[in-house]
Amino acid sequence: MKTGEVRLWKLTRRYVREAMLRGDIKGAILPTGSTEQHNEHLEMEHDTVSALHMSHQAALELYPQVVVAPPMSVGISEHWMEFPGTLSLRPDTFVTVAYDICESLQRHGIEHILIVNGHAGNRPLNEHMADFQKRLGIDVQFCSYWEAYSKEFVAEQLDSGDCPAHAAEFETAIAMAAFPENIHWEGVDYEGANLKIQREGYADRDPIYFRDGRDLATPKKGRVMADVAISWVAEKMKAMLDN
Ligand SMILES: [Zn+2]
Repeated sequence: MKTGEVRLWKLTRRYVREAMLRGDIKGAILPTGSTEQHNEHLEMEHDTVSALHMSHQAALELYPQVVVAPPMSVGISEHWMEFPGTLSLRPDTFVTVAYDICESLQRHGIEHILIVNGHAGNRPLNEHMADFQKRLGIDVQFCSYWEAYSKEFVAEQLDSGDCPAHAAEFETAIAMAAFPENIHWEGVDYEGANLKIQREGYADRDPIYFRDGRDLATPKKGRVMADVAISWVAEKMKAMLDN
């Protein structure tokens, strides 16, 4: 494990200028997440901090070649707006913000950008990668960090066999391993909350996800899953740099 500061917003202009001049910084990771409901027990920032965790650790493995841009902490979450607290960008807005961040990085001389996503609703951004590459003239790619896992690996690691699901065994386990302070079981009374979930097809799944998160998640599962995702993201980024 290498150490050093890779988070762009923690660097000074002098550091970035000198590192760019030396040719040390070659690529950037842009994490994309959401601020949205994550069942009764997980904080709204889950997708953002999980994408940031994988991105940060992967960039450290490639230090000093890769910096991490500030995560996009609001995503495309219209489907969760019935839950108070959820924030959502229109798909066009989301894509435009992602483009503008990539363009800023490109103007400073970064030629490889990997967008590391932590929220399934943001996946429409993937359809814009060819357009981003054409307009920016650089290598820009999109992935969701759970693409690191094969079906067999998920079946082996998770008792529910369901990944990423939503605030269920997988995401709760990731939080237990990487940011346990984001889990709040105290005072939770799922039955007593008398939720009247409107979203079609989800009302039945929400209680299952709740039980899976509560009964099946462990920090060990989360650590194993996170470490595989971190290595996978680092390899993906490294392949872009080597290309
Ligand atoms: Zn999530």
